[in-house]
Amino acid sequence: MSYVFPPPAVVSVPVAGTGQSFPVRRIYCVGRNYVEHAKEMGFTGREPPFFFMKPADALVVVAEGSTGEMPYPAGTSDLHHEIELVAAIGKGGRNIQAADAMGHIYGYAVGLDMTRRDLQGEAKKQGRPWEIGKGFDASAPIGPIRPAAACGNIADAAIALDVNGATRQSSRTSKLIWNLAEIIEHLSAFWALEPGDLVFTGTPEGVAAVVRGDLMEGRIDGVGGLKIRVT
Ligand code: MN
Repeated sequence: MSYVFPPPAVVSVPVAGTGQSFPVRRIYCVGRNYVEHAKEMGFTGREPPFFFMKPADALVVVAEGSTGEMPYPAGTSDLHHEIELVAAIGKGGRNIQAADAMGHIYGYAVGLDMTRRDLQGEAKKQGRPWEIGKGFDASAPIGPIRPAAACGNIADAAIALDVNGATRQSSRTSKLIWNLAEIIEHLSAFWALEPGDLVFTGTPEGVAAVVRGDLMEGRIDGVGGLKIRVT
């Protein structure tokens, strides 16, 4: 096979504690999956989970213990942070039942679903797709993936984000409206999941804007941390 130009590199995320990397295929994201965040976005009550996607090359991979950099994106004056638990799919499937879903997860990471909130808001108002608000370059900072067996009780872990040392978001994964198993059941009813897929599971309340120079520090107990500066 000869390509007309060199194919892009495989996007991958290092696996903590190993020399290996997890090759990424797709990034799925769950919208409004914590009650208090749904409320702050103007919604109440449990709605069926809904999904959007980011391109795999929107990841900004940040090694353990180092500080990554995320360029402030074009076209926005309201860049929001959304700290999220990310599930890394190790075994694919269609129509996976919730009871079997956890066996499809290879591991977990700390991720940020960065959002051009002004552009997303405009898209919502106009009934347009969300890509311009959600799927932009460098919109998905992520820390290393930790294998599931090493993550402890992921169903009830503290999740938090500090900006410049002050806590902005703080919750627990037990407050997910749709838990990991239910997310995978719903997602795999609409898409065939494959190894290498990442699922951003939604953000708790406290989303707010960052500006150039801000340092974001996310952490999820048992999973790890993610430190990144907006430049
Ligand atoms: Mn989100």
